[in-house]
Amino acid sequence: MNKDLLERVMASPRLPSLPTIALEVIDLVQQHDVNIKQIAQTIQMDPALSGKILKTVNSSFYGQSQTISTISHALVVLGLNSVKTLALGFSLITNLKLPESEGFDHFLFWKRSLYTASAAKLLANRVGVVQHEESFLGGLLHDLGVLAMAQALDGEYEEAIASVQQSPERMVVVEAERFDLDHTQVGAALAESWNLPPILRAPIQHHHKPDEAPDEVAPVVRCVALGSAVAEVFISDAPGESLERFYKLAEQWFSLSREAAEPMLAEVHKSTVEMRRLFDLPTGELGNADDILARANEAMLQLSLQNQQQTNELKLRNEQLAKKATTDSLTGAANRGHFNDVIQERFEATRNGEGPWTIVFFDADHFKKFNDTYGHQVGDRVLIALAKTLKEEMPKDALVARYGGEEFAVILPGTGRQEGARIAEQTRRLIHEVEVTSDEGETLRITASIGAATDDGSFFNAAEQVVKAADKGVYAAKKAGRNCVRVFAPRPKRKAS
Ligand code: GH3
Ligand code: MG
Ligand code: MG
Repeated sequence: MNKDLLERVMASPRLPSLPTIALEVIDLVQQHDVNIKQIAQTIQMDPALSGKILKTVNSSFYGQSQTISTISHALVVLGLNSVKTLALGFSLITNLKLPESEGFDHFLFWKRSLYTASAAKLLANRVGVVQHEESFLGGLLHDLGVLAMAQALDGEYEEAIASVQQSPERMVVVEAERFDLDHTQVGAALAESWNLPPILRAPIQHHHKPDEAPDEVAPVVRCVALGSAVAEVFISDAPGESLERFYKLAEQWFSLSREAAEPMLAEVHKSTVEMRRLFDLPTGELGNADDILARANEAMLQLSLQNQQQTNELKLRNEQLAKKATTDSLTGAANRGHFNDVIQERFEATRNGEGPWTIVFFDADHFKKFNDTYGHQVGDRVLIALAKTLKEEMPKDALVARYGGEEFAVILPGTGRQEGARIAEQTRRLIHEVEVTSDEGETLRITASIGAATDDGSFFNAAEQVVKAADKGVYAAKKAGRNCVRVFAPRPKRKAS
């Protein structure tokens, strides 16, 4: 935190000041045995303030059946807390209304503050946080630091936040980046210098990080923070995200289901409209709640559809990438890397009692000559057709891999030597049945030399040895005249004598 700048802000003569009356009320209520009569007298000294308070307590916001005509009466009916908070709120707000300026959006600021205040109070009420009034006032003042920075740093601040005023989250980030000082820090310092009670200071200081608030004030801070999330549903230019965020936090902080949280939004709007009239704040038009909420819901729906689509696309893309990483691009058979992984798995599985497995290895006969005669592209078509036939005809759990140029391997899980030999012979016939057409229209076939090796867990010490054994089979088949199968037969291990 930039302490020098904080000092500069705090020393600014333009900083909003605490009205005497508010100061006195704060002093009085913090006294140990507070005298209600004295408080009433203090408030009544300011007729404009008293008038506003009485207007408020008689408004539908408080739902009183009887008319309250004096501050003392209000204190009895509504309690010290409500009246104190109203007195503080009104007197503070009077001093905080700043002159119009270019870069700072006052309408937006007060709209946000008022929505946050109404929402915080309603939430406190709903979730059983007893400090309703503190939640309201905390909501109204939570961005006090923004006003202080706007006043003290003037154009510099306005210019910095001009493009991010729509998003409180972005505002703190920009402030910290630009000034190494954000509005929660300035607000907290100002609230402290005013000697505001801790419960009012806390939301100003912690509304962006409610988890950092001390336990005793945490519920009010959360009400204000969630209140400010509600405010964004009504004022942000991304209402879908805001609505989603509100539902998420309501669930997370207060276990409020979406069904329970949703109806509160219209109520918040209603009480904000009323509070705006009472506090006479420059908020501009508040708009129609039904329209605003319908738009937010629509935007949220779009958002979740978009997310769904993105998730699906990502999943598909990952699957494609995974496939690409394990397949040979020409033939679509598994590539050498994947082959190596699978033989390793098989080797271990056999040692874990899963039975034998077999590799059938083959190498196309005289393929160089084939290429030379018919062209490399026709050769490619043979390799592609080979892989396709094998994938179709081999047992379901077999893996067909391209080991190298014109060498393929088939891994057969759960297959012993005899069955392996049978499949190797079947492979030989399948290969010979594969037909491709030459550029001249001739039907062409090839043959392959095949080696097979079976690992039943008793002979080999490493997966690579099984591959080598199968390859020996291929070599033997070539030597025996090609287009035939040779099965590797391990020599019995000699007993040590
Ligand atoms: P042998 O019967 O002894 O295996 O003879 P061969 O000609 O098949 O063996 P050699 O190893 O001498 O040659 C392999 C040939 O396979 C040479 C090479 O051009 C061909 N080849 C390797 N990869 C590809 C490929 O991707 N496409 C085509 N068309 N040919 C390939
Ligand atoms: Mg060959
Ligand atoms: Mg070869």
